[in-house]
Amino acid sequence: MNASPVIQLQDLRLDDARALLGHDPSSRLPVAEESSTAYVQTIIDNLCELSLKDPLTGLSNRRHFRNVLSREIDSVARSGESALLLMLDIDHFKNVNDTYGHLAGDQVLQAIAKCLAACVRPMDTVARYGGEEFAAILPNCPVSFGLIVAERIREAIADLYISVSPLLNVRVTVSIGGAYAPEWVRSTTSLWTDRADIQLYRAKSEGRNRVFIDEQQVISVSAEEKSMLFGPLSMGDPAWIESISGDVSGSSNGSAMNRVN
Ligand code: GH3
Ligand code: MG
Ligand code: MG
Repeated sequence: MNASPVIQLQDLRLDDARALLGHDPSSRLPVAEESSTAYVQTIIDNLCELSLKDPLTGLSNRRHFRNVLSREIDSVARSGESALLLMLDIDHFKNVNDTYGHLAGDQVLQAIAKCLAACVRPMDTVARYGGEEFAAILPNCPVSFGLIVAERIREAIADLYISVSPLLNVRVTVSIGGAYAPEWVRSTTSLWTDRADIQLYRAKSEGRNRVFIDEQQVISVSAEEKSMLFGPLSMGDPAWIESISGDVSGSSNGSAMNRVN
């Protein structure tokens, strides 16, 4: 029987990893006395954590957000519980940069991130989605709570006095769009984010500093499910099968949605 291979620390190039973790205040650098396996495992764990975080705000980054979103879609399909996605965009943020400078803009982003994280439950995920855009995934959030939660977040941000220098506080507002996860069937993360995005666009175009939520239950039928539903029948390829499957998906690529209610 072969002995399992032993990692020799001196054979690994760990300097870059150590330097990267050394610059991140929340990383726990491994202690040198640990066994080599434990040492390397701690480095890997810390790097994984770092790769999921936005460096400016410490929130989840878009990569992590995507993972959580697709996990949540599966969970909703299994449990039937409601999960809410909120997309937030700071209103007229370019003016903040133009008026007070980019560093002040960064401080505003950090303050909003902190406020957002404080507004949600530990089980929720808050992410920096892009430049001045944030997203929150709220699992197990009843439909009747969605607007209340989003309004509370909007008001909390509007109430902030963000200190960007000893004599200067900046105030900003956000527009929020939300959508509930499609229930019972597998869907895609982009379908879900698109629906929240449409509501965000609505909040912007109707005056900003407001919330719109798509509360409709959505049933979507994926191409895979469509073939499971219609596959055996379509072996003879009768024309009416096409027309039924077209009605269910609403489009030929199988990614569109039927709304119920
Ligand atoms: P709207 O209400 O339509 O959203 O207007 P807006 O000005 O917020 O949107 P716009 O897309 O015109 O400008 C977004 C600005 O966000 C421009 C960009 O320089 C700034 N921004 C993006 N990322 C960062 C960042 O990391 N730090 C700072 N300070 N600014 C950023
Ligand atoms: Mg934007
Ligand atoms: Mg904006």
